[in-house]
Amino acid sequence: MSDPVRLVFLGGLGEIGRNCFCLEVEGRILVVDCGIMFPDADMPGVDLVLPDFTYLRENADRVEGVFLTHAHEDHAGGLAYLLRDVPVPIYGSRLSLGLARNRIEEAGMLGRTELIPVADGERRQIGPFDCEFVPVTHSVPHAFATAYHTPVGTILHTGDFKLDLSPVDGRKTDLALLGEIARRDGGVRLLLSDSTNAERPGYTPSESTVGESMRDLFRDNTDQRIIVACFSSHLHRVEQVAAAALASGRRVAFLGRSMVHNVTLAREMGLLDLPVDRVIDIEDTSRYAPGEVCVICTGSQGEPMSALSLMAAHEHKWVKVSEDDLVVLSAHAIPGNEINVSRVIDSLMRAGADVVHDATAPVHVSGHASREELKFMMNLVHPDWFVPVHGEYHHMVQHAALARDVGIPDDHVIVCEDGDVLSITDAGIDVERRGVPAGYQYVDGIVGDVGLGVLRDRRNLAEEGVVVVFVTVDAVSGEIVTGPEIVTRGWIYAPEADELLEEAKTAVRDSIVDAAKEGAIEFETLRRHARRALGRFINERTRRRPAIIPVVIEV
Ligand SMILES: [Zn+2]
Ligand SMILES: [Zn+2]
Repeated sequence: MSDPVRLVFLGGLGEIGRNCFCLEVEGRILVVDCGIMFPDADMPGVDLVLPDFTYLRENADRVEGVFLTHAHEDHAGGLAYLLRDVPVPIYGSRLSLGLARNRIEEAGMLGRTELIPVADGERRQIGPFDCEFVPVTHSVPHAFATAYHTPVGTILHTGDFKLDLSPVDGRKTDLALLGEIARRDGGVRLLLSDSTNAERPGYTPSESTVGESMRDLFRDNTDQRIIVACFSSHLHRVEQVAAAALASGRRVAFLGRSMVHNVTLAREMGLLDLPVDRVIDIEDTSRYAPGEVCVICTGSQGEPMSALSLMAAHEHKWVKVSEDDLVVLSAHAIPGNEINVSRVIDSLMRAGADVVHDATAPVHVSGHASREELKFMMNLVHPDWFVPVHGEYHHMVQHAALARDVGIPDDHVIVCEDGDVLSITDAGIDVERRGVPAGYQYVDGIVGDVGLGVLRDRRNLAEEGVVVVFVTVDAVSGEIVTGPEIVTRGWIYAPEADELLEEAKTAVRDSIVDAAKEGAIEFETLRRHARRALGRFINERTRRRPAIIPVVIEV
């Protein structure tokens, strides 16, 4: 009997984001994807959320490399953080590596990191890992599903995918190869499949339908400047918008750092064909009438410092939005970004622009397979075992239900979560729940883990405010020398609450006088008395619970 093959899920099972799992064969580890998650409203001040790399740090000598299924942030955004502790080669399609390269460079890790391209349909040995790379369609070109041929059978990971039958670049999800893998000796032992749209009925429309909408939009709006915001990695979207703009006689300008970078990369790689004389610099757009220009930019997620937000706020150097503009948000808000997106739509409208987004026109389609496609995949591959991945818990539960609908036996469908470890043997699959640390790692600025305590404090401060009381006492007698003085933020508006603040000071003063009378003049004791008296007063008078910081100074 062969040694067990292990799968260790570090992220992405229970949230959209920070996708990362380890495949372990013969004691070696292949890391599949290394993504980030965007913070939501209850993570104040957090820039991004990483997987917990503790397990990988502790086993760094066993890591063979990282394979990127594609270069979206939720799959590749955490690379720079991992590479600092675990410097290993990175495998992926040429484009994925090209897109990820920027991230690695920003972290100053490029010189130490080997980037190894793999090709469509290629079968390659990475250490003990026998990998086969299957083309799939998604919202970034050149994404992969991967078959890992292991001693305990073939594990097929779909990666992020949809079944686009008329993709913009003609590179379809290779159903023939998937079918062949399923028919080879032993078939597919375990399928790991993308659950993002497991609640969405039917089929996800083809990316090429967005091209039709764009052509209509450009045809019907000839006088306004058209500004289209989309993901800079969505090169097929960029291509279709540019093609529609050029066909309507406009010139195209690109805006936003990652947009300019990715378009340049795609043109160098021959993935984006744009006539040189029709692409203009953003500085030159004002030389043309609004109807002669199209701007393709970043900021479709409402990111506050992005090109689109700056334009909407009239803070952009070259582009000011007005009634001469039609702005198209060609994207859907990622969970956590909804508020920012509606805010940017509001500011664009206040600036006078017409705004079109995916709720009002078919200017966006998803990059993920809907229910019928997910069932198609399971039927095509007919795996022995099934584990839904890439989704919130309810997405994965729905996906598991679909598996049962297509006839995969109940006891061969496992809903896993972050931190779970699967051991796969010839006999079956064992699950160890929460076998490795897999909590959220919060990144704020350049400080690694912000920690749950800090976040709790930030939430409390945001909800209740803070009250600081200063008092100076005589070290020998315990008598008050100066104060108490009270400074507050977020509890009450101090300039309008003189009376309340005076009463609060009296409450603190009385408590210290009482304590001193009883001989309790020790500094810590006085602090405790001040805090308790002030807390009780604030609660009685305002029914609020701000953070209270007593500062007692002995002289
Ligand atoms: Zn993706
Ligand atoms: Zn993804």
